[in-house]
Amino acid sequence: MIATDPQLAFHIMVKPTGSACNLNCTYCFFLRKERLYPGSNFRMSAEVNEAYIRQLFEAHQVPKVTVAWQGGEPTLMGLDFYRRSLELQKKYQRPGLTVENTFQTNGILLNDEWCHFFHQNNFLIGLSIDGPKKLHDYYRKDKGGQGTFDRVMQAARLLQKHKVEFNILFSINSKNADNPLEVYRFLRDELDAHFLQFIPIVERDNENGYQIGSKVTDRSIRPRQWGRLLIEIFDEWVKRDVGSTFVLNFDGMLAGWLGMAGTLCIFGPTCGLGMALEHNGDLYSCDHFVEPDYFLGNILQTPMIELVAGEKQRKFGRNKRDTLPRYCRQCRFLFACNGECPKNRFIKTPDGEPGHNYLCAGYRAFYSHAEQNMRIMADLLRRGQNADGIMNIWEDAEVRSKAKVTRIGRNDPCPCGSGQKFKKCHGRARKEFGRGLK
Ligand code: SF4
Ligand code: SF4
Repeated sequence: MIATDPQLAFHIMVKPTGSACNLNCTYCFFLRKERLYPGSNFRMSAEVNEAYIRQLFEAHQVPKVTVAWQGGEPTLMGLDFYRRSLELQKKYQRPGLTVENTFQTNGILLNDEWCHFFHQNNFLIGLSIDGPKKLHDYYRKDKGGQGTFDRVMQAARLLQKHKVEFNILFSINSKNADNPLEVYRFLRDELDAHFLQFIPIVERDNENGYQIGSKVTDRSIRPRQWGRLLIEIFDEWVKRDVGSTFVLNFDGMLAGWLGMAGTLCIFGPTCGLGMALEHNGDLYSCDHFVEPDYFLGNILQTPMIELVAGEKQRKFGRNKRDTLPRYCRQCRFLFACNGECPKNRFIKTPDGEPGHNYLCAGYRAFYSHAEQNMRIMADLLRRGQNADGIMNIWEDAEVRSKAKVTRIGRNDPCPCGSGQKFKKCHGRARKEFGRGLK
């Protein structure tokens, strides 16, 4: 038995249908994983469901645990599977343990019954959508080759109708990456979504989709496209949406400026606490490494906690830091980036060292661009204020610049339209913004 940290908190993405899905999205890396289980029916048995819940709860001595359903497409299991799982959760939930269920779906099968169930049981839903119709339908097609945008929008409306909390998972590929503001405004204004995560599609060009080789498919985003997208969305977000639209990517990076561990493993110095559980109980090092070399064991044969805390998985987590090329170790943004995710480290650095991050050029461009704003938001938070104070700073800067251009005097009306004298409004010195935008 391995000695484990009683405070060990980890995350397991569970795939009750394995890689089985009712869509055929061209860029999906997981569809090809079905080759790992030839002849399987891709349905989690009652035995694995119970072992998963029991072992997950037993392994967590911390106050909160997340049961994270994912796919493939988890709705293919049918509602009764999840009703049974909730019964198991009640059975094994000890007093004081808070349980949260998350559920990542393409939305196709959602109806009133599913949404009612989600609402009743406080599920947090992740809905995949790739932008307005023409961008979404380009790659996200059903098995018959038809676009799925209208059905996903219907799912979003149903979730809203039933007051189910949901995040949008937005895959950025080479096709939709060139329209950053169009997609961002669509999500914010038309979909009325307030929790967003942008996922760059980086797909290795090999037959089984494993993390080998350095060639990427045409569908994959280009590093500079990624940088441009982050910059354009950030510039709009930081001036008007901080505190009302949550972009997980920016929150994750801001944690670096605060010197804290963020919620996104990709920006942490090490990883290894987010594993993937296949339908038959096989546990793998990470959702992006469901491959034979990263197989940890089966939870029906070896207790989950031993696999999670075992040396193979610890080494996987440490490797994120230990295999960083010198180029990253000397990078001034290392504190926020940490070389990002190892799955994207397959190119050479400018001085020829292997293991460099494919997206680096985009990240460096973004960090340089966002640095000053990130620093200001981190300062505000450290002083116990809200990060949305940055928007006042921007507004101040813009009104003052307008006043300068139009030669507004201190006793003239403020150009912001408040009706107050400029000197009493945006023209007054604000000590709290002393380190504001230059
Ligand atoms: S490999 Fe990447 S996605 Fe997986 S746990 Fe590590 S940082 Fe996270
Ligand atoms: S920005 Fe590039 S060089 Fe810097 S840590 Fe990230 S991947 Fe490495």
